[in-house]
Amino acid sequence: MINPKNYRVAFHNLGCKVNAYETERMRESFLKLGFRQVSFDSPADIYVVNTCTVTNIADRKSRQMLHRARAMNPNACIAAVGCYVDTKGGETVLADGIDLAVANKEKDSLPEKVMEYLETKDPLTAGFPDSSTAASEQSIFDGSPKADTGGYTRAFLKVQDGCNMFCSYCVIPYARGRIKSPPIRTLVNEARKLGDKGYKEIVLTGIHVSSYGLDRTSDKERLQDLILAISDIASIKRIRLSSLEPRIITEDFVRALLQSDKVCPHFHLSLQSGSDRVLKRMNRHYTSSEYQEKVDLLRSFYDHPAITTDVIVGFPGETDDEFQETFDFLKEIKLYETHIFAYSIRNGTRAASMEGQITQAVKQKRSQILRELCEHNKRLFEDSILKERPEAELLLEDPLSGYTKRYLKVFLENPFGSSGDILRGKLAGRDDTGRLLFKPIS
Ligand code: SF4
Repeated sequence: MINPKNYRVAFHNLGCKVNAYETERMRESFLKLGFRQVSFDSPADIYVVNTCTVTNIADRKSRQMLHRARAMNPNACIAAVGCYVDTKGGETVLADGIDLAVANKEKDSLPEKVMEYLETKDPLTAGFPDSSTAASEQSIFDGSPKADTGGYTRAFLKVQDGCNMFCSYCVIPYARGRIKSPPIRTLVNEARKLGDKGYKEIVLTGIHVSSYGLDRTSDKERLQDLILAISDIASIKRIRLSSLEPRIITEDFVRALLQSDKVCPHFHLSLQSGSDRVLKRMNRHYTSSEYQEKVDLLRSFYDHPAITTDVIVGFPGETDDEFQETFDFLKEIKLYETHIFAYSIRNGTRAASMEGQITQAVKQKRSQILRELCEHNKRLFEDSILKERPEAELLLEDPLSGYTKRYLKVFLENPFGSSGDILRGKLAGRDDTGRLLFKPIS
């Protein structure tokens, strides 16, 4: 009989916030059974690698981490979970010398699968439709989401899984399946537990958060209903939304959000390109002018909202003119923060076989040009807040720093309070290194 107390387990997470959420959830389940956690760089008896497959590079890193775990302890049980495993299929992963390959939808039963392996030492796969099927088309959400911690102050709550959008560069709909979301009452219970634990801010996260509820046509629960229901929990002071699809921003949606002053005026709207021709090739279902309208709408209802985005440069066939359109668009629209990604091939996607793949050197050059522009835009936004809206509420991450509701990272000159405290005060300029300073009202 296996005694978990005798086993050391180590975790490594790759990829998105949803994966981070699920790693935390697996970690909690292992510890609850009595396993002892050690760091991934130490000798362990069990290594869990939560893999990612968003690009070929992510695939490579996933494999590297699995091999690194094997090198750390040749006799350890190596368990692979996550999207790389779902797309490759369990048998392929086992053939690479891994002991356990568990599909996303079975992640919650990983500790039991590991115990089974420790008893028998027989490599096993779980959760794959059959051993030859590489990607599950089933949605993987198991209907019992649990809350995760993203630090001492902020907690991520996964509100849905899967995606039906099929952007031409993305493998996620194949890896994670179609959208699936639990009802509001389930998520409110989870959010309440987080509030009871002391978390002040909840970040609603998922693969495609804007799709929340669309899989459940009968109850008509939508993202705004969920947000308002969580807003009623007294212990939760802030609600932040992770990446949103631009088309969800309608007047009705924004008016609904405005009913709660807990919703942070920080919206991450994925742009990906400012060129309509590139957007079309990406199979994104909006144009740059529609995107602009959504930003204008947010700016007309919210006072200085912080709008952040993602952009992919060097998408197949991106001409100098198309890149210039993206540059001009970002210059004009002046968002707070832009995360720039150089396009990276993902086998199995439509974009991977498109003509006109861009060289690494061009991608790097274009990324650098956008990075400089976006640094400038960020500074402009911060300066406008410093000048026009310096009053702020700060959620302390530690006694010397924290985030405002607009997600500005700010610093205190002297320690004040402790992690999780909410302080009121003002932004008070920058220090010598350019960091924003916050002065609490004592
Ligand atoms: S919206 Fe597009 S990029 Fe995002 S997960 Fe879905 S298919 Fe991938």
